[in-house]
Amino acid sequence: MTQVGVNGYGTIGKRVADAVAAQPDMELVGVAKTRPNFEAETAVRKGYPLYAAVPERVDRFAEEGLDIAGEAGDLVAAADVVVDCTPSGVGAENAALYDDHDTPAIFQGGEDAGVAEVSFNARANFDDAVGADSARVVSCNTTGLSRILAPLEEEYGVEKARVTLVRRGGDPGQTGRGPIDDILPDPVTIPSHHGPDVNTVFPDLDIDTLGMKVPATLMHTHSVNLTLESDADADDVRDLFADETRLFQIPAGADIDGAGKLKEFAHDAGRPRGDLWENCIWAESVTVEGRDLYLFQAIHQESDVVPENVDAVRALRGDADAAESRATTEDAMGVGIDY
Ligand code: NAD
Repeated sequence: MTQVGVNGYGTIGKRVADAVAAQPDMELVGVAKTRPNFEAETAVRKGYPLYAAVPERVDRFAEEGLDIAGEAGDLVAAADVVVDCTPSGVGAENAALYDDHDTPAIFQGGEDAGVAEVSFNARANFDDAVGADSARVVSCNTTGLSRILAPLEEEYGVEKARVTLVRRGGDPGQTGRGPIDDILPDPVTIPSHHGPDVNTVFPDLDIDTLGMKVPATLMHTHSVNLTLESDADADDVRDLFADETRLFQIPAGADIDGAGKLKEFAHDAGRPRGDLWENCIWAESVTVEGRDLYLFQAIHQESDVVPENVDAVRALRGDADAAESRATTEDAMGVGIDY
């Protein structure tokens, strides 16, 4: 049993904690929180040992009636692997703590690539992280792109990728984020940071990305155009995607016209928190003109990286190969939509 600690219990951390707790070969040793808020209360209610991330605030947990098991250093010491799910930049500050305890660490996509030995996607480069001391699970958008690029690269080769990312302004819980009523080129310069981030997983890929931000919280939407190296056919591409368990092709008859209905679908399906761990590709949008492939996909920013974090734990431990790990993760979490 691999003992896994989760440092930072917010949007990503609470989902990773649940996913780890569901795995047959992992045990969640605890989660570290900065504040005794509703999420801390949820962790305690779920039976997760709660650790105080900031030693000076230990008393505040007691004042709110929340028992703590120790401080963040105790959690790191108790863990075989720690998954750092703190806000962008804080992970890099925590790296010394993990080094001091000799505890392998997984970081998130908000950190610079240099924070870890490997930028990781379970479909594209699992083996690169095997036996490493640290890995960075790439961002939600890069994860979503890596999952389609890997099979297309293997089957056809990708000569050039052009992607426009229409990005949600903030997560549902991020009440301070915007825009509230605007449409922003973000960044206005090209490429956006997403293309270079994809290159941390696919170093040789020629990719240009453009980013926009809109007043939405539900999901990101990607408009994808890839020039393939060999001829393709739209039906064959759909068949290729059908073999990928982390890709869901929205059938035409589903009457799902956007992120709102996708989230409604996830809630109806009983998904925890309405999560969609899979890329959601509109099957009708998959179009091939010569060697040019076009498609639209929606990416649930709060959850698509969660199975990848679980796989990253196994990669660092060298506990399973890529296919075994992905299958175990998916089975335990219920990833994969059989519409
Ligand atoms: P979040 O703000 O929802 O959660 C971060 C949590 O860490 C909060 O509970 C915060 O209180 C806590 N924290 C702050 N400082 C800490 C410290 N020193 N020690 C322990 N905990 C601390 O953030 P998030 O959205 O979960 O993002 C976490 C990481 O995941 C970032 O790198 C982000 O870029 C990445 N990510 C986020 C999304 C997304 O859409 N939310 C998607 C993919 C990747």
